[in-house]
Amino acid sequence: MDKIIRKSLLYKSGVEYGDYTINHVIGCSHGCNFPCYAFMLSKRFGRVKSYEEWIKPKIVSNALELLDKEIPKLKDKIHFVHLSFMTDPFMIGYPEVVKLSLEIIKKLNKNGIKVTTLTKGLYPDELLDKTNYDTGNEYGITLVSLDENFKRIYEPHSSNYRDRIESLKKLHNAGLKTWVSIEPYPTPNIVNQDLRDILNEISFVDKIVFGRLNYNKKVSEYLWYKEFYNYCTDVVIKFCEQHNIEYHIKEGTITEDAPYILEGYKKDTQKLFYTNKKVAIK
Ligand code: SF4
Repeated sequence: MDKIIRKSLLYKSGVEYGDYTINHVIGCSHGCNFPCYAFMLSKRFGRVKSYEEWIKPKIVSNALELLDKEIPKLKDKIHFVHLSFMTDPFMIGYPEVVKLSLEIIKKLNKNGIKVTTLTKGLYPDELLDKTNYDTGNEYGITLVSLDENFKRIYEPHSSNYRDRIESLKKLHNAGLKTWVSIEPYPTPNIVNQDLRDILNEISFVDKIVFGRLNYNKKVSEYLWYKEFYNYCTDVVIKFCEQHNIEYHIKEGTITEDAPYILEGYKKDTQKLFYTNKKVAIK
């Protein structure tokens, strides 16, 4: 695996539910086509030149040394550290990345710093070791569908959905905190699915983050996308309230001036969004 040296590692993120973050890898083998915001940003700032380069990640070989220098300076300011907003800490096919992610989490925890993680890969069993990894950490997966055909197109090299859910459930069953990011959630013209099926699969988690799909023109080709996202938000909130799950709805997902049920379809919202999808495409 290619390596790079960096000058700094820990930084304050601008993401709405983030605090400090670490991107110890440039690129991501999962190669998502939603599109991937991290790839778009990395390309714009010249960190990578192409998709082909993006899916051949480079590891920051001096990450642990950098942490030894930065932790003492920032420790008092850090509420928690998120791995990662610009790559995937448990990407499939790169054991070096998984090993380094575990070392980083261990080091942060040893310094009394809580870690949150998010992956489309699989969680390693090492995290079940409560002597090395803090029980206050929060482990998350991204899950926007259960349809493996959709996955093959939009997140071609990530873990399959069933294994991903099972790896998270293992952590939950060991008494650890878990969460799911249902973001970026696709409209019915992209994949015809029922959000409630996804929610039922992950009802064991402590927190759900829900957000719309951005930067994809297929979303606005679906005429009722605002109403659709309002409807989905309502489904998520009701589900979380019923199951005593914490939730966060990402900014821009709710449209205040779009009624979530259109006139004439009040009795049959489900049919509107899932059966009549062809009628709804521009
Ligand atoms: S897993 Fe995340 S960082 Fe990796 S390609 Fe997919 S969206 Fe981008």
